[in-house]
Amino acid sequence: MPDYDAIKKDLEGIEVEDNPKLVRQKSRDFFWYSPILKDQLENVTADLVVSPASEEEVIRTLKVAYAHGVPVTPRGSGTGNYGQAMPLSGGIILNLARMTKVKEIGPGRVVCEPGAIIADVDRQTKAHSGQELRFHPSTANTATIAGFVAGGSGGVGSINWGGLRDLGNVLRLRVVTMEAEPRVLELSAWDLQKVTHAYGTNGIITEVEMPLTVSYDWVDVLVGFDDFMGAVRFADALAHENGILVKEIAPIAAPIPFQYFSRHKQYVRPDQSVVVTMVAPHAMDAFLAFAGKMKGEIVFRADTLESLKGLPQAFELTWNHTTLRALKVDPTITYLQVQYPSPDHVAKVAEMTRLFGDEVPGHLEFMRFSGKIQCSGLPLVRFTTKERLEEIIRIHEDHGCPVFNPHRYTLEEGGMKRTDAVQLTFKKETDPKGLLNPGKMIAWENPDFDFSAGKTFLFPGLSDFA
Ligand code: FAD
Repeated sequence: MPDYDAIKKDLEGIEVEDNPKLVRQKSRDFFWYSPILKDQLENVTADLVVSPASEEEVIRTLKVAYAHGVPVTPRGSGTGNYGQAMPLSGGIILNLARMTKVKEIGPGRVVCEPGAIIADVDRQTKAHSGQELRFHPSTANTATIAGFVAGGSGGVGSINWGGLRDLGNVLRLRVVTMEAEPRVLELSAWDLQKVTHAYGTNGIITEVEMPLTVSYDWVDVLVGFDDFMGAVRFADALAHENGILVKEIAPIAAPIPFQYFSRHKQYVRPDQSVVVTMVAPHAMDAFLAFAGKMKGEIVFRADTLESLKGLPQAFELTWNHTTLRALKVDPTITYLQVQYPSPDHVAKVAEMTRLFGDEVPGHLEFMRFSGKIQCSGLPLVRFTTKERLEEIIRIHEDHGCPVFNPHRYTLEEGGMKRTDAVQLTFKKETDPKGLLNPGKMIAWENPDFDFSAGKTFLFPGLSDFA
């Protein structure tokens, strides 16, 4: 058992919390979306929360933790969904939430501290020079920029820009290593892949440089359809329209909008599916003409934040907010993360919708990956048993729809991140004692791990670039 009194003494001058109740609060994320992770991780807790205010304090903390052999699990706002920020081996939660500065804004770029809240970054870049981040998770109002880079994948805006895995969507990261004498690395281009979506297993991000694009006062529009596939075909056609600028396209099957969007249900019929969109103001005439041609019914429109009159912004109905809204009404619901490979994505969605019906109500997010329009699904699952959940996953995969399993807490089993020999070598260099977020990288725990098991991964392996 580490000597926490000695550790606290060594950390003097840095904010430390050891009240077990508060430490437990900061040891949790949104793992409870999954009934499987809920059982596995419910009792996970750290021993201390350390909240550095600067990179220098991060370095000091890592040095002390290394000397005492104590695990360190970084944390932004704890909105990750797979127990990513949960300290499986106890030890220290490194809470980056006090490092919130936006340090520099230039044409097409912003530099921030790791704990900057994403919506605050957007507010500051918009006020500074009419710019915004290319895309953000639907948790923009609470999540941190480094937590997104280390734990997220894409989001609102991915219809135009793809995801975090794409070259150019993160510009530069400063990363502190977990060694006797921590080093500060500056990573760019391919090297970023070592740290993006790696759950903080191979370094602590202390500075993030992200690309920016032109900001707009996006118009929230919900378009209603009598059946889900009508909504999907509209979404696909809209995504392929070159001239209509949108930031979000999410078809959501009935009865989700009426049953679970408690604040928007007044605008939809119980049997209506909707496509949630965000449209640039100057594109509205073209958008309305296009929706009319596709027989879409405009059921809700808000042109300004004031006109929302207390309703959440449309993006807080999408991505994993769809699941959250359903869970608030029906705690037995869970979800999947499914890829419907292009160019057959609409046919694949139709096939899965026919197979599962209301057991797996549809929710899709359209995005542009490698120049192609495709859609990923975050369908709800009306959970019955773990065995049936595994069976639903297997049936999707048997039909050519890979599942990035949100009911697993390791990088590899979650399926978003391919670890390989290059990734492992980098971890050996940056975290030789394996103290950073232990238990999350199978390749580290099990040196015989088969890297080439034939699984589909969202983030590519590093050997591809070596
Ligand atoms: P945390 O949850 O605190 O951390 C995430 C991971 O990053 C953890 O492994 C943590 O250890 C690591 N980490 C945190 N800070 C650092 C650091 N400084 N250095 C190294 N590692 C670090 N995700 C998406 O990609 N797109 C979405 O649209 C989306 N929507 C969501 C909606 C809801 C309602 C919820 C609950 C989750 C959603 N997520 C989404 C998942 C999550 O919100 C995002 O990934 C978010 O950006 C995580 O930010 P955070 O600050 O909460 O990170």
